[in-house]
Amino acid sequence: MKLSIIKICLLSLLINGFNLNAQKPTNKLLAIFAHPDDEQTIAPFLVKSVEEGVEVTLVIATDGRLGVNEYSDYEAGDRLAEIRKNEMLCAAEVLGVNLIHLDYHDQLKAGEGFDGHIPHVQNLIFELKGIIKKTQPDAIITWGPDGATTHMDHRLVGASVTQIFVSQKWEKPIELFYFGMPSDLISDYKSKTIRGQDRSYLTVQIPFTENHYDRAYQALLCHESQYPARIVGKIKMERKKLGYTLYLREFMAPNKIRTSLF
Ligand SMILES: [Zn+2]
Repeated sequence: MKLSIIKICLLSLLINGFNLNAQKPTNKLLAIFAHPDDEQTIAPFLVKSVEEGVEVTLVIATDGRLGVNEYSDYEAGDRLAEIRKNEMLCAAEVLGVNLIHLDYHDQLKAGEGFDGHIPHVQNLIFELKGIIKKTQPDAIITWGPDGATTHMDHRLVGASVTQIFVSQKWEKPIELFYFGMPSDLISDYKSKTIRGQDRSYLTVQIPFTENHYDRAYQALLCHESQYPARIVGKIKMERKKLGYTLYLREFMAPNKIRTSLF
């Protein structure tokens, strides 16, 4: 009798020991966007991911030095870049994510023409590749060809990430996802084409809660140079109409070779 109790205890120890050793590795998410405040696109999901124990790294590619708008009277330039760097730190802290804020020029030096813009973007591509290799994510989220707002930096960052992704076979499997806005949630007819997507492509639909949403908008308050508090309140109410779901389009490549288009 005693012997069987000892056996059970030993068995239990072994099982527990195995369970400890068999703990699932932490999932890693890498979100890559262009400007400080762009993370707001998926912020409730970032909050949810952190809450679920996912290791989230947020990459912001540019310094946002040209981010002036009708809501405030900041001037474009070095000072604004400095302000936005601090705002981004604040937002990352509220969201609970690791932040890598690169200092590429806002609009990626498009104003300097081919000779300024192309080397700048090529440097960005290599730096992003290095970050992907170093962080070893399980999933990457960025923008698709719509760039959410059609902003050239958004589209170029998304395209750069896609190019890096397809440029090699990754040792650790990585999945790539694009933020997507269902066309049926967009009322403006032109925008449906410019940035909307048919739901049949948005096969990843992740629910989040009011708490995730509230936290996301706490983070948006950090970006005071872009969105004063009164504007954040309005945006929050407006966005609520879109519901509590993040839509993503998964990058897919068939694994069969075809020898004809038709
Ligand atoms: Zn942006």
